[in-house]
Amino acid sequence: MAFDSLSEKLQNVFKNLRSKGRLTEDDVKAALKEVKMALLEADVNFKVVKGFIKDVQERAVGQDVMNGLNPGQMVIKIVNEELIRLMGSETTEITLQPGSAITVIMMAGLQGAGKTTTTAKLAGKFKLKGKKPLLVACDVYRPAAIKQLQINGEKQGVEVFSMGDKNKPADIAKAAYEHAVKNGNNIVILDTAGRLHIDQDMMAELQEIKEAVMVHQTILVVDAMTGQDAVNVAGSFHEKIGIDGVIITKLDGDTRGGAALSIKAVTGRPVLYVGMGEKLSDLEQFYPDRMASRILG
Ligand code: GDP
Repeated sequence: MAFDSLSEKLQNVFKNLRSKGRLTEDDVKAALKEVKMALLEADVNFKVVKGFIKDVQERAVGQDVMNGLNPGQMVIKIVNEELIRLMGSETTEITLQPGSAITVIMMAGLQGAGKTTTTAKLAGKFKLKGKKPLLVACDVYRPAAIKQLQINGEKQGVEVFSMGDKNKPADIAKAAYEHAVKNGNNIVILDTAGRLHIDQDMMAELQEIKEAVMVHQTILVVDAMTGQDAVNVAGSFHEKIGIDGVIITKLDGDTRGGAALSIKAVTGRPVLYVGMGEKLSDLEQFYPDRMASRILG
């Protein structure tokens, strides 16, 4: 999975540190230089890496660490803590409206990121929690996307609302909301249309949906395989339409995984879930501490 290579490199750096007993400031600096290289190779955003190394270094060359009984171990502990902090420290839940009020969630993302699949995966999670989600096909440009949502919705045992491809996404969203009120759905998840690249029309369309219905949560889906691009995409979406959280897909693949480490620091918005496969059950809640443990091995 992602991070295998980063993990291996960090483990080597730490093995060296541990074997040293006493550490000089130069030992720590040399080790952190290797950590820096490993993070950059894992496609973590350059500015994020710089800030991270600076923070770790400030803490690691302190007197307490250097004079401690086990300085190598302390440095590793600091790297672990700072990695967790980088990813947002806490697990963030998707905020739902209180009581039986309807929560409207808008899914956004570029074409191919995994938005439609993730929408159905998410509906399954809500269903397990006893909610009654309604999936809404707002991607009117690709008939295949509507069909895909219907098939996946059926697999999940979740209702899918569609008006074909002749209506505007904002009108579909509005009609879906009314349907949810009548039908007793308490979560409405809008699967919107992506484009190949960030483009004006896509942002305008998302904005229009937001004006037509009260969107409580905007969730961006990005593809881990696209590395730094995923982080840039997240920055652009956040700037243009405002996002509440990010789901990173395809972290199961042979990806370097840097997006998972950079998104929070770059956008200020947390990673909520990670996609770990094509099956509809392959969606994991994001735990910064567990991810750090996975990385450090
Ligand atoms: P959309 O265009 O953003 O709606 O993307 P789709 O939902 O159609 O997904 C594009 C492709 O990515 C499909 O083949 C999905 O099966 C695949 N996919 C989505 N999420 C994941 C994931 O977490 N891991 C893997 N390996 N594949 C995924």
